[in-house]
Amino acid sequence: MSAPIGCKNAPELPENYQNLPKLTKMTPENQRKFMQKAIEIARLGVEKGQSPFGACIVTDGRIIAYAHNTVVATHDPTAHAEVNAIRKACQKLKTHQLSGFSIFSTCEPCPMCFSAIHWAKIDKIIYGASISDAKSFGFSELELSNKQIIDLTGSKMSIQPGYMAAQCLELFEYWHSKPDKSPY
Ligand SMILES: [Zn+2]
Repeated sequence: MSAPIGCKNAPELPENYQNLPKLTKMTPENQRKFMQKAIEIARLGVEKGQSPFGACIVTDGRIIAYAHNTVVATHDPTAHAEVNAIRKACQKLKTHQLSGFSIFSTCEPCPMCFSAIHWAKIDKIIYGASISDAKSFGFSELELSNKQIIDLTGSKMSIQPGYMAAQCLELFEYWHSKPDKSPY
């Protein structure tokens, strides 16, 4: 098992971000850092007894919020990483709309999270592992892929599947190795 991936250099959005010049470029370097942040927070969650999912919301090339899954800790079946990150981002910015934002998720968002991302008006989902991968590790996923949801609904959501998938899959292996894991 490799060491936790650090991302000390990932740019984070300061409180006064609205006064800053727009950083419109999503560079490959930034994209890698953003997924690393999602992986890092997921790994922290596993260390705290949570399940292996992390998400990071970004805009203008900067991180606005990130979170891991807290279903077990908070006795809240809806506390998936993506939902937690959306709540943090919206509360931080005092808005319910994240148009122009992207979400990096270590795993393909489940149908509940895809819906939350839709309602938040986030434009793009970049994910690593797939819903099928999560299911294969024992999570009772509804096996409806983001692609299928888009095809069924005509959603304009942009998706980038399989990004840094190997590192995201390692999270499942790490979680699986823990004696206190709690699949649901
Ligand atoms: Zn979910």
